[in-house]
Amino acid sequence: MRIEVENLTAAGQPFEHTYGAEEVDLEEEGARVVGAPSVRGSASRKGDEVRLRGEIRTEVELLCDRCLTPERAPLAVEFDTSFIPREAEAVKAENVELLADDLGTSAYDGEAVDLDELVREQILLALPSRRLCKEDCKGLCPSCGTDLNAGGCSCEQTEVDPRWSALAGLKDKNE
Ligand SMILES: [Zn+2]
Ligand SMILES: [Zn+2]
Repeated sequence: MRIEVENLTAAGQPFEHTYGAEEVDLEEEGARVVGAPSVRGSASRKGDEVRLRGEIRTEVELLCDRCLTPERAPLAVEFDTSFIPREAEAVKAENVELLADDLGTSAYDGEAVDLDELVREQILLALPSRRLCKEDCKGLCPSCGTDLNAGGCSCEQTEVDPRWSALAGLKDKNE
């Protein structure tokens, strides 16, 4: 969905949209959107600067960093983002030798703001950087891939110090 800039005023205009879960592709390993993301907020304009404020609600599926078990979690993100036309952004960036990201603003093509891209970015930013199914997740056995939360595997008795196994690997190659 695109928000046309021409009709916006300083007063703010409400907007609302619900996406299909498959419409928002995070292109992120270990995380995907599973609940239809809904976004609502208000759009205002001062000169050629557009400001979108609102909230996104969805449900995401995250893979545990250690055991790769998928877990679903609700996600609510509040945003307050300013957009300036792309040409203005280029000038501003040149003058202060900063990129748009550092200025805390995003760019639009001069006619409309891409709400889809905003929703995608905001969900990505809100994802937890550390994802564990539980604090003490034991993860997968590095040798056989067994989920160690479900019990041990037969590799445990022969587990070697990783420094020694590196040496053992060298030895194998030399033989
Ligand atoms: Zn886990
Ligand atoms: Zn194992």
